[in-house]
Amino acid sequence: MSDFETSDVSCPSCGAPMTISTANSINAWRHPWAREQVRSGAFHRFGCDACSETFHVERDFVYHDSDARQFFVVYEPTSATAWQEQERLTERLCVETFQSGPSGVEQLGLTYEIRTVFGRRALIDKLLIADAGLDDALVELVKLELVTSVPALGARPLLEVMVTAVSATDDVIELVAYDREGEPNPIEFSADLRRYRDFENQRSTLVERWPNLFHRTYRSYHRLAVEPARTLRETP
Ligand SMILES: [Zn+2]
Repeated sequence: MSDFETSDVSCPSCGAPMTISTANSINAWRHPWAREQVRSGAFHRFGCDACSETFHVERDFVYHDSDARQFFVVYEPTSATAWQEQERLTERLCVETFQSGPSGVEQLGLTYEIRTVFGRRALIDKLLIADAGLDDALVELVKLELVTSVPALGARPLLEVMVTAVSATDDVIELVAYDREGEPNPIEFSADLRRYRDFENQRSTLVERWPNLFHRTYRSYHRLAVEPARTLRETP
């Protein structure tokens, strides 16, 4: 089921009071309009009657698609610096959600993609990657390579890099890079999908080096800043 609540806010442009409805959780399978709104960027976007400006509201909510088996816990982008804590929250929430249901639901939870994401753009990123049938952990390694090969980007710790499109026919992943706090001058990039396939061919080695990137719920290259690669076992 989906669960919405209303709240009183002020327009960020002109300060006019308004009442908006935002989600605590959405079930995208039951409410495909919500899924479409998320993808188009219209979800949690509101227009002010007084000044006609539009604005987005970022808030914590659960994006649940029981058909696509996605359970994405979305947090405000500003809490991304505390991702370890948010990841533990996601895991607790999953235990509550999947273990408190009818029998069989617990087993069902194991077949879900469960993710900790920060902000609406990160949610779109995960949905586009899933639609294209790609592994999000491998896409994060493509992003990391891109960020570290462009010195101006690597020097920005609050940088976020998000997928905006995947084209299998053109063999490219389109991305946008922007600063987490405020977003002046987003930079658009393309990455070669062939590079993704190189990583795919080395997947088992990469999983061994960065197990948490592949097994925990916060699948972002940012976690590798505090979780350095494991030394691989020497083959005798
Ligand atoms: Zn206004």
